[in-house]
Amino acid sequence: MRTAILTWMIARCSFAQSAQEPQVIPLIVGFHSESIDSSYVASVTLILDDTTSIVVDTPSGTNAVGREGMLTTLINDGQLLPDQVNILVITHGHPDHFGHDMLFTNARHIFFAFEQTDTAFKPLNYQNGVAVLSRNVELWQTPGHTQQDTTVIVKNVPNQGTVAITGDLIFDADDASNPSSTQTDIAWNVESLLLNRNRVLCVADFVVPGHGAMFQVTPQMRQWARCEQVAGNQVPVQQTPRNTGAQLIRPSIFQRQEQLGYEN
Ligand SMILES: [Zn+2]
Repeated sequence: MRTAILTWMIARCSFAQSAQEPQVIPLIVGFHSESIDSSYVASVTLILDDTTSIVVDTPSGTNAVGREGMLTTLINDGQLLPDQVNILVITHGHPDHFGHDMLFTNARHIFFAFEQTDTAFKPLNYQNGVAVLSRNVELWQTPGHTQQDTTVIVKNVPNQGTVAITGDLIFDADDASNPSSTQTDIAWNVESLLLNRNRVLCVADFVVPGHGAMFQVTPQMRQWARCEQVAGNQVPVQQTPRNTGAQLIRPSIFQRQEQLGYEN
């Protein structure tokens, strides 16, 4: 660990002296294997954008191996100690995606529409469902897997273009390649999940999914997402305006209540 910190100190000096193109660095490559032991390990990702450092998700509190792996890669590849990370984003509230938040003691902790810094709890400023975190990084509200899913969009990544870090909105490459993926069975709201998944697949060149390795978005994935080329940008054919999530959530809740026989 001492050698790793020394490496970090030397590298950090050169990092601070030059403007940085955004980088997306995997700290943990997520995976899942329901068939063997229902093992779920979430992807954990570091983003460096100018002087802003952002960690997306953390290992579960019971995953000590994951914690050590995350910290070692953060120091060696990210040239950062955990208390130097500026922002922590949790993609959604399932326990395989958080549990070591307390390591990032000086970061803004963001969960969907709220953030906590020190003892201050306040709403996060979204405009039409999008919050800007830094020059190349946005948060999109993308409910579907859960009611509070957040996708991190990183633009202008060298050799990769736009990278979307989706949490479990997209489980893995197979999930994005299969329109009838069984992962939609456990979604909070399938309609919202598919709409927001399509939005993401239509703008992203690469995806860091919740439980798999980063993959490149293929023409077939875009075809299934019903994208078409408009003015040089991939957008959904039946595009719904970006919103706060409330417009998506509210009718869906009513629909669910009707399905369950509740009275509004
Ligand atoms: Zn998960």
